Amino acid sequence: MTKRALFLISDTGGGHRSAANAITAALDEIRTPYAFQHRVEDVAAHCAFPLTQLGWGYSAALRYAPPVYGALYYATNGRRRYRALVRFCEPLYRERLRDLFLDYRPDAIVSVHPLLNHAALRARDDAAMPGVPIITVITDLGKVHESWLTPRADAVVVPAREVYERALSRGVPPARLRMLGQPIHPKFDDVTGTKEELRDQLGLQRDAFLTLLMAGGEGGGKLLPTTLALAKAGLPMHLIVVCGRNETLRSKIEDLAGALPTPLTILGFTNKMPELMRAADLLVTKAGPGTLAEANAAQLPMVVYDYVPGQERGNVEFVRRNGIGEVAITSTAAVVRALRGLVRNEARLAAMRRAQEIVAPKRSSRRIAALIAQMSAGGIIPADDEYRALAAAAI
Ligand code: UDP
Repeated sequence: MTKRALFLISDTGGGHRSAANAITAALDEIRTPYAFQHRVEDVAAHCAFPLTQLGWGYSAALRYAPPVYGALYYATNGRRRYRALVRFCEPLYRERLRDLFLDYRPDAIVSVHPLLNHAALRARDDAAMPGVPIITVITDLGKVHESWLTPRADAVVVPAREVYERALSRGVPPARLRMLGQPIHPKFDDVTGTKEELRDQLGLQRDAFLTLLMAGGEGGGKLLPTTLALAKAGLPMHLIVVCGRNETLRSKIEDLAGALPTPLTILGFTNKMPELMRAADLLVTKAGPGTLAEANAAQLPMVVYDYVPGQERGNVEFVRRNGIGEVAITSTAAVVRALRGLVRNEARLAAMRRAQEIVAPKRSSRRIAALIAQMSAGGIIPADDEYRALAAAAI
């Protein structure tokens, strides 16, 4: 017998899809008492205008006008202001979601996107499916947007302590809250081999100080100026630049690489992130929640040089507060300064790695998958101790 899990996402940035893919990969490992089928649905893409333009609008706003995106984020992030946003958005989503539920007949609905939580609850009423649990998996850190916090969801999974506290303060009952960590792909838990072995596999030098530079799945923002500043700084390191899906940027950096004094490896979108993170010594990154959590799992200290205004501000604070990296968001000169203090500074890097050990999302996706599996059967969240026993068995 199989069960069906429906994941609601929006392809705004790579993070929501990565989180859904991470959990579905863990669901695929579950065989008993039933296996899972799943569907990951980019809901906005099938709704009415203007939602069809959401993914495009998000990329454009981030590429050309991040402050505009930030202003929108803050303008809607208050209880009353958010209710107005829900009133505007919900009718656009609700019908599409109801049809989706009736068509797919899921045993569990998992929302990995803030704007879909309330609409999913209403659409479940419309589809007359009260027994199908709705599980919200929050993928942001810090003072997350109001839209994430839905007290009526059957379970709310949070990545970290401060999000747990915020959910409690917004009325999510403790019995429905679970702190299971940011969902990262099970591959990050499963990487084996020493740093040297992984470098051999990846064709990287064994003895170089390896700095991994990236900007999420889309690879935009300040990635080009940061690459140039670091490559010109004359630091004793090898720089690996991950351009993600930004092919234009990749070829631009390839054209420039020959004239730069630092040895560079330039990559497009790669599925070797688990190995690269274990092989590297330092990460320089935008504060994407997925990348941060993965780096913590890989115990790869970081320097944050950029963030999406609003949404990723809490992630920057998370890095600062937990001592897992440095924050250098003011200028490329600040990034270079931060690296001067860290490259080959084993004592400081080791301190950051120890801090990462504490906040690392260990086996998060497998634990979330175990929760979904249990709720698919009964519809309600299992008691904490009951869940722990079953999750331990599932892992
Ligand atoms: N990623 C990847 N290959 C790449 C670049 C990025 O697999 O070449 C993954 C990365 O490991 C992470 C996700 O894309 O899981 C990026 O998510 P994040 O939340 O950091 O940022 P976003 O892309 O949503 O801005």
